[in-house]
Amino acid sequence: MKQSFLFTKTRRDAPKDEVSQNAKLLIRAGFIHKEMAGVYSYLPLGFRVLNKIIGIIREEINAIGGQELFLSALQDKAVWEKTGRWDERAVDSWFKTELKGGAETGLAFTHEEPLTALMRDHISSYKDLPKYPYQFQVKFRNELRARSGIIRGREFLMKDLYSFSKNEAEHMPFYEQVKKAYHAIFKRIGIGEKTVLTFASGGSFSKYSHEFQTICAAGEDAIHLCEKCRIAVNDEIITEQTACPQCGNAQFAREKAVEVGNIFTLGTRFSDALGLQYRDETGKEMSVFMGSYGIGPGRTMGVAVELFSDEKGIVWPESIAPFSVHLVSLAGAGKSKAGKDADALYEKLQKAGIETLYDDRDARAGEKFADADLIGIPFRAVISEKTPAGKVEIKKRTSDTVRIVSVNEFLKTFHLP
Ligand code: ATP
Ligand code: MG
Repeated sequence: MKQSFLFTKTRRDAPKDEVSQNAKLLIRAGFIHKEMAGVYSYLPLGFRVLNKIIGIIREEINAIGGQELFLSALQDKAVWEKTGRWDERAVDSWFKTELKGGAETGLAFTHEEPLTALMRDHISSYKDLPKYPYQFQVKFRNELRARSGIIRGREFLMKDLYSFSKNEAEHMPFYEQVKKAYHAIFKRIGIGEKTVLTFASGGSFSKYSHEFQTICAAGEDAIHLCEKCRIAVNDEIITEQTACPQCGNAQFAREKAVEVGNIFTLGTRFSDALGLQYRDETGKEMSVFMGSYGIGPGRTMGVAVELFSDEKGIVWPESIAPFSVHLVSLAGAGKSKAGKDADALYEKLQKAGIETLYDDRDARAGEKFADADLIGIPFRAVISEKTPAGKVEIKKRTSDTVRIVSVNEFLKTFHLP
């Protein structure tokens, strides 16, 4: 994409009321727009990053049998009354509203209830199980505090996966598969090293649920890390759980962390309340055994910014960067030999399928470099009047070293098929 065409502008200062580092940087670099506290819009650069994260999650969830769907945000009160979760004493984060005729409706903060109700139309026999529907969908939560930028929004995207199984024996292997898939997802996104499996309380059905917590100074959660096995226990269960559930070691290091995902055995709580049953091999009616599994793609993006930035701006991991290359022409496109060389390199990169943001603007070099650092694309490629013919000046965002290499050598760094 040509930067002269991109409508977003970078800015020197973040909004005065913005306290989080992720939102400050993302707003300054033109990735997101703040509508009000806890409510953010994704602009073209930000939407590209979000979609990269979604793409990685989708691949890994499809690989374990996920089937993508898209549920409504507006909710039928009657369905939620069946589980007791319409009541604001049970759920304090509802955004509720009214239809024209006066009937109450709510904006979904999660989707266990409507999906369980919906599955009654599709599950009636043991032959219909197991099933693993999931979605990427906006959730609404009237969060009390919203000071962490896109890490805690009042409106935010969630990947929510649900499992419908015959019984616990069928459920548990899938639960373990999701664990593995989550490790793969966070590794591919580039935050794997800092993200640890964390034991949390399990609710009514199982002893534990699991969270994926990313160790990060901006975290609102505290976890207790077993440094031997790099798993953790969350703050809420540390009083009962005084030793590592995996190795028994009682030495924990307290760390601040952000929950980027979680996995939960629900048992039959929702299927009992909503009447989701199947006939087993003997003809007996049984309640479907459920699990739910969330990841916040926007929160994950915010965490990546918190982990990977410096005083100049964002430093995107390659897998989720909005573009792979930031090509900077210091000639004014097309006006000079260097401008023509830069245009030609842009064409080449486009043809090779290497995602490139081409700074073809008529601006000072200092301004262009500052913008490139702020936006944080992994490779900066410069062509100026001084660049030798057939060469390009390469710098990685993670390094200060500029190397002059041939265009062909540069293209080879991208391991194209
Ligand atoms: P937290 O304890 O941080 O409020 P939660 O336990 O409410 O999280 P879930 O309801 O399990 O989270 O949601 C699943 C996933 O959705 C979380 O792991 C997180 O990645 C994401 N998420 C939850 N709340 C928000 C939010 N307010 N803004 C952005 N992402 C969120
Ligand atoms: Mg919450």
